[in-house]
Amino acid sequence: MNEKQNTGTTTVLSGSYTPAQSLDDQIKLADLQAKQLEIQLKNEELTAKKLEIQERLANIDESKKRQSDREIKRKQFENDLKQKARIFGQQRYTDTLRQSVCSHRKGGMVDSRNMRVLHEGGDSEKRSIIRHRMINGDLWIRCTRCGKTWAPPVEKMFYFDADGHNVAPCDGVFSQGRFNDADKEWKEACKFTTTGSPSSSVICSFHKWDVAARKWVDGNTEYRDSMASTSLR
Ligand SMILES: [Zn+2]
Repeated sequence: MNEKQNTGTTTVLSGSYTPAQSLDDQIKLADLQAKQLEIQLKNEELTAKKLEIQERLANIDESKKRQSDREIKRKQFENDLKQKARIFGQQRYTDTLRQSVCSHRKGGMVDSRNMRVLHEGGDSEKRSIIRHRMINGDLWIRCTRCGKTWAPPVEKMFYFDADGHNVAPCDGVFSQGRFNDADKEWKEACKFTTTGSPSSSVICSFHKWDVAARKWVDGNTEYRDSMASTSLR
Protein backbone atom coordinates (compact mmCIF):
# COMPACT_ATOMS: atom_id res chain seq x y z
CA MET A 1 0.00 0.00 0.00
CA ASN A 2 1.42 3.37 -1.02
CA GLU A 3 0.61 6.63 0.65
CA LYS A 4 1.63 10.24 0.30
CA GLN A 5 3.17 11.74 3.39
CA ASN A 6 3.50 15.52 3.68
CA THR A 7 6.64 16.52 5.62
CA GLY A 8 6.12 20.22 5.35
CA THR A 9 8.46 21.30 2.62
CA THR A 10 8.87 18.18 0.58
CA THR A 11 6.52 15.40 -0.33
CA VAL A 12 8.14 12.04 0.26
CA LEU A 13 6.80 8.83 -1.09
CA SER A 14 7.01 6.03 1.39
CA GLY A 15 5.32 2.84 2.32
CA SER A 16 5.67 -0.88 2.20
CA TYR A 17 6.07 -2.53 -1.13
CA THR A 18 4.55 -5.64 -2.47
CA PRO A 19 6.95 -8.33 -3.69
CA ALA A 20 5.46 -7.65 -7.16
CA GLN A 21 7.65 -4.50 -7.38
CA SER A 22 10.66 -5.11 -9.54
CA LEU A 23 14.20 -4.41 -8.34
CA ASP A 24 14.38 -1.66 -10.95
CA ASP A 25 11.32 0.03 -9.48
CA GLN A 26 12.82 -0.20 -6.01
CA ILE A 27 16.11 1.37 -7.20
CA LYS A 28 14.22 4.15 -8.99
CA LEU A 29 12.22 4.86 -5.86
CA ALA A 30 15.36 4.92 -3.70
CA ASP A 31 16.99 7.32 -6.19
CA LEU A 32 13.94 9.55 -6.09
CA GLN A 33 13.95 9.59 -2.30
CA ALA A 34 17.67 10.39 -2.26
CA LYS A 35 17.11 13.27 -4.68
CA GLN A 36 14.19 14.58 -2.62
CA LEU A 37 16.31 14.39 0.52
CA GLU A 38 19.08 16.28 -1.27
CA ILE A 39 16.62 19.02 -2.29
CA GLN A 40 15.31 19.19 1.26
CA LEU A 41 18.87 19.53 2.66
CA LYS A 42 19.70 22.22 0.12
CA ASN A 43 16.53 24.11 1.08
CA GLU A 44 17.46 23.92 4.74
CA GLU A 45 20.98 25.03 3.99
CA LEU A 46 19.60 27.96 2.01
CA THR A 47 17.26 28.93 4.87
CA ALA A 48 20.17 28.78 7.33
CA LYS A 49 22.27 30.99 5.06
CA LYS A 50 19.42 33.48 4.71
CA LEU A 51 19.08 33.63 8.49
CA GLU A 52 22.82 34.13 8.84
CA ILE A 53 22.73 37.01 6.36
CA GLN A 54 19.78 38.57 8.17
CA GLU A 55 21.62 38.31 11.47
CA ARG A 56 24.71 39.90 10.00
CA LEU A 57 22.67 42.76 8.55
CA ALA A 58 21.00 43.26 11.92
CA ASN A 59 24.42 43.36 13.59
CA ILE A 60 25.65 45.92 11.10
CA ASP A 61 22.52 48.03 11.70
CA GLU A 62 23.02 47.82 15.43
CA SER A 63 26.67 48.76 15.24
CA LYS A 64 25.82 51.67 12.93
CA LYS A 65 23.16 52.78 15.40
CA ARG A 66 25.60 52.52 18.31
CA GLN A 67 28.14 54.51 16.32
CA SER A 68 25.62 57.23 15.48
CA ASP A 69 24.39 57.32 19.11
CA ARG A 70 27.99 57.87 20.20
CA GLU A 71 28.42 60.58 17.56
CA ILE A 72 25.19 62.32 18.69
CA LYS A 73 26.31 62.20 22.34
CA ARG A 74 29.75 63.59 21.43
CA LYS A 75 28.20 66.46 19.45
CA GLN A 76 25.77 67.18 22.29
CA PHE A 77 28.66 67.31 24.78
CA GLU A 78 30.62 69.64 22.49
CA ASN A 79 27.61 71.95 22.07
CA ASP A 80 26.99 72.01 25.83
CA LEU A 81 30.61 72.91 26.40
CA LYS A 82 30.52 75.68 23.77
CA GLN A 83 27.31 77.07 25.27
CA LYS A 84 28.80 77.05 28.77
CA ALA A 85 31.92 78.81 27.48
CA ARG A 86 29.73 81.42 25.76
CA ILE A 87 27.66 82.07 28.90
CA PHE A 88 30.80 82.17 31.05
CA GLY A 89 32.46 84.55 28.56
CA GLN A 90 29.38 86.81 28.48
CA GLN A 91 29.20 86.84 32.29
CA ARG A 92 32.87 87.78 32.50
CA TYR A 93 32.40 90.45 29.83
CA THR A 94 29.41 92.08 31.61
CA ASP A 95 31.26 91.85 34.96
CA THR A 96 34.31 93.58 33.48
CA LEU A 97 32.15 96.21 31.83
CA ARG A 98 30.20 96.92 35.01
CA GLN A 99 33.34 96.95 37.12
CA SER A 100 35.02 99.40 34.74
CA VAL A 101 32.21 101.98 35.12
CA CYS A 102 31.69 101.48 38.87
CA SER A 103 32.94 104.24 41.20
CA HIS A 104 33.28 101.66 44.04
CA ARG A 105 31.82 104.34 46.36
CA LYS A 106 28.97 104.52 48.83
CA GLY A 107 26.08 106.95 48.51
CA GLY A 108 24.05 107.91 45.45
CA MET A 109 20.30 108.03 45.01
CA VAL A 110 18.22 105.00 44.16
CA ASP A 111 14.63 105.17 42.97
CA SER A 112 12.35 102.51 41.54
CA ARG A 113 13.10 103.61 37.97
CA ASN A 114 16.84 103.94 38.38
CA MET A 115 18.71 101.33 40.38
CA ARG A 116 21.96 101.78 38.50
CA VAL A 117 23.74 103.26 41.48
CA LEU A 118 23.54 99.84 43.17
CA HIS A 119 25.83 98.42 40.49
CA GLU A 120 27.76 101.49 39.45
CA GLY A 121 28.53 103.01 42.84
CA GLY A 122 27.67 106.31 44.45
CA ASP A 123 29.49 109.59 45.02
CA SER A 124 30.41 109.42 48.70
CA GLU A 125 33.90 110.04 50.09
CA LYS A 126 33.72 106.54 51.55
CA ARG A 127 34.34 103.47 49.48
CA SER A 128 31.63 100.85 49.18
CA ILE A 129 33.94 97.98 50.03
CA ILE A 130 34.59 95.12 52.37
CA ARG A 131 38.17 94.34 53.35
CA HIS A 132 39.45 91.01 54.53
CA ARG A 133 42.83 90.11 55.97
CA MET A 134 43.62 86.66 54.57
CA ILE A 135 45.24 83.91 56.62
CA ASN A 136 48.71 84.78 55.24
CA GLY A 137 48.29 88.47 56.06
CA ASP A 138 47.35 89.67 52.51
CA LEU A 139 44.62 92.30 52.40
CA TRP A 140 41.82 91.57 49.92
CA ILE A 141 39.24 94.22 48.99
CA ARG A 142 35.87 93.74 47.33
CA CYS A 143 33.46 96.35 46.02
CA THR A 144 29.97 95.59 47.31
CA ARG A 145 28.38 97.38 44.34
CA CYS A 146 30.06 95.66 41.37
CA GLY A 147 31.81 92.69 42.95
CA LYS A 148 35.32 93.61 41.80
CA THR A 149 37.94 92.01 44.00
CA TRP A 150 41.46 93.37 44.46
CA ALA A 151 44.06 90.89 45.66
CA PRO A 152 47.83 90.61 45.30
CA PRO A 153 48.42 89.55 41.68
CA VAL A 154 49.62 85.99 41.07
CA GLU A 155 52.17 85.47 38.29
CA LYS A 156 50.53 82.39 36.73
CA MET A 157 47.44 84.49 35.93
CA PHE A 158 49.42 86.90 33.70
CA TYR A 159 50.30 84.74 30.69
CA PHE A 160 48.94 85.78 27.28
CA ASP A 161 48.97 84.32 23.77
CA ALA A 162 49.76 86.20 20.54
CA ASP A 163 46.14 87.46 20.33
CA GLY A 164 46.31 88.87 23.86
CA HIS A 165 44.06 86.19 25.37
CA ASN A 166 44.72 85.19 28.95
CA VAL A 167 46.05 81.59 28.81
CA ALA A 168 47.72 78.93 30.93
CA PRO A 169 51.48 79.52 31.53
CA CYS A 170 52.43 76.64 29.19
CA ASP A 171 50.54 78.30 26.29
CA GLY A 172 51.70 81.91 26.53
CA VAL A 173 54.20 84.56 27.57
CA PHE A 174 54.35 86.29 30.97
CA SER A 175 53.41 89.98 30.86
CA GLN A 176 55.42 91.89 33.48
CA GLY A 177 53.62 95.12 32.47
CA ARG A 178 50.12 93.81 33.18
CA PHE A 179 51.35 92.16 36.39
CA ASN A 180 52.79 95.50 37.58
CA ASP A 181 49.53 97.31 36.68
CA ALA A 182 47.50 94.84 38.74
CA ASP A 183 49.95 95.11 41.63
CA LYS A 184 49.70 98.92 41.55
CA GLU A 185 45.89 98.77 41.41
CA TRP A 186 45.78 96.41 44.41
CA LYS A 187 48.13 98.63 46.43
CA GLU A 188 45.93 101.65 45.67
CA ALA A 189 42.82 99.69 46.69
CA CYS A 190 44.55 98.88 49.99
CA LYS A 191 44.49 102.63 50.70
CA PHE A 192 40.72 103.01 50.07
CA THR A 193 38.95 104.54 53.06
CA THR A 194 35.65 103.25 54.31
CA THR A 195 33.78 102.84 57.57
CA GLY A 196 34.74 99.99 59.88
CA SER A 197 37.89 97.96 59.99
CA PRO A 198 38.87 94.91 57.95
CA SER A 199 37.63 91.48 58.95
CA SER A 200 40.46 89.09 59.55
CA SER A 201 41.50 85.47 59.63
CA VAL A 202 43.94 84.08 62.16
CA ILE A 203 47.24 85.14 60.61
CA CYS A 204 49.72 82.36 59.87
CA SER A 205 52.96 82.33 57.96
CA PHE A 206 53.47 79.65 55.34
CA HIS A 207 56.74 77.76 55.02
CA LYS A 208 57.84 74.80 52.98
CA TRP A 209 60.78 72.44 53.31
CA ASP A 210 63.39 73.04 50.59
CA VAL A 211 64.94 69.62 49.93
CA ALA A 212 68.04 70.96 48.11
CA ALA A 213 68.81 73.73 50.63
CA ARG A 214 67.74 71.51 53.56
CA LYS A 215 65.90 74.36 55.30
CA TRP A 216 62.46 75.93 55.68
CA VAL A 217 61.72 78.64 53.08
CA ASP A 218 58.83 81.07 52.57
CA GLY A 219 55.71 79.33 51.22
CA ASN A 220 53.58 82.41 50.67
CA THR A 221 53.82 82.13 46.86
CA GLU A 222 52.27 78.65 47.02
CA TYR A 223 49.45 79.97 49.20
CA ARG A 224 48.74 82.82 46.77
CA ASP A 225 48.91 80.41 43.80
CA SER A 226 46.26 78.22 45.38
CA MET A 227 44.00 81.25 45.92
CA ALA A 228 44.55 82.73 42.43
CA SER A 229 41.11 81.85 41.02
CA THR A 230 39.18 82.92 44.13
CA SER A 231 37.32 86.15 44.77
CA LEU A 232 35.51 87.47 47.87
CA ARG A 233 32.14 86.65 46.32
ZN1 LIG B 1 32.57 98.68 42.25
